[in-house]
Amino acid sequence: MAKVFNWQINRETDYWYTGVRPQRQFGAIFDINKCIACQTCTVACKTTWTGGRGQEYMFWNNVESKPFGCYPIMWDVRILDMLGAGAWNGATYAGRTIFESAPVRQRVLGWQPSDFDYAHPNIGEDEVNRPIEGGAYFTGKHAAWMFYLARICNHCTYPACLAACPRGAIYKRKEDGIVLVNQKHCRGYQECVKACPYKKVFYNAVEGVSQKCIACYPAIERREQPQCFMACIGKIRMQGWINPPERIVEDNPLDYLVHIRKVALPLFPQLGLEPNVYYIPPVHVSDAFLTQMFGPGARKAVETYLQARKDKTLAGIFTLLGSTPHTVSFFKIEGDEAVGFDDDRNETCRVPISEPVVTRDAFDEILQVGRHNIT
Ligand code: SF4
Ligand code: SF4
Repeated sequence: MAKVFNWQINRETDYWYTGVRPQRQFGAIFDINKCIACQTCTVACKTTWTGGRGQEYMFWNNVESKPFGCYPIMWDVRILDMLGAGAWNGATYAGRTIFESAPVRQRVLGWQPSDFDYAHPNIGEDEVNRPIEGGAYFTGKHAAWMFYLARICNHCTYPACLAACPRGAIYKRKEDGIVLVNQKHCRGYQECVKACPYKKVFYNAVEGVSQKCIACYPAIERREQPQCFMACIGKIRMQGWINPPERIVEDNPLDYLVHIRKVALPLFPQLGLEPNVYYIPPVHVSDAFLTQMFGPGARKAVETYLQARKDKTLAGIFTLLGSTPHTVSFFKIEGDEAVGFDDDRNETCRVPISEPVVTRDAFDEILQVGRHNIT
């Protein structure tokens, strides 16, 4: 195994290959607080990419209700259980990653889901974390909670799927860091399916090959966001580029949210893959659960998020989520507007940070009717 530096766990870690970061890395921000589980993203992806034979059970994008929702069944609980308890020492992960825990003669610690595990993609939907007694109501901090977790492939910096493939059929594009399976080279050994802890590679039994989220790379090449981002009703998503901490670009919205304000966090960083979808944690959930899921910065991220409405830069970037079909490479706050720019710093969108409020007269002179003000 080679040694690579994983900034999300703040230390060197084992990886099967020598780590070479791509020229730039596909990244995304998902604001969990805004997701309504409408599954529009899921359907947008399904109808675009997985309508073929052998793909019936596949959801490259799925949305599950936490704490009990999971697709495939118990994907997170099983790998965490296999990995064992791992403590954080401040910002440094002191436990073992799935590469460091690999059994003898294997490259990654993993497990293979069965057909049954994939058969219930919406299991646990809308279930809260504990029974609610009759007559109970919510006050202040919620004792009972649930939230929706939208998931795609993380296009990890150190992909377990890529490390595990004995054919070398999985590759990470140097121009954008997107992880793809070469369909001609794949022989369907499914080592990638077993290795990916997020379970975002799927086996197509009809074609005899593994298939996965391709980050809608034809759209990315046109400087547009993927289908699931474009379709998102809740406007929870923004696609852009994420740099490692030593190469932060201050007006890159992802660098700003992830590195500078630390309000968006990776999913299960302790697994060791340096995943590149970053989540703004839900504000109403137990700290212990959030820390296990997003690492030790979760509580601070929630506090920062709760202050965002008084912080024009944060509020401005959040208004850019879901406001443009274009990849947001750079941003600027101008007066009361947030502005998005493409790679060449051409303006692609301009959004008011606070919505204008219009108060209508109680009596409409033109229509000669009285009306209530319901704004
Ligand atoms: S999330 Fe899974 S499938 Fe996607 S790059 Fe990471 S290891 Fe590979
Ligand atoms: S489309 Fe957006 S709001 Fe709807 S489920 Fe997907 S991520 Fe959530």
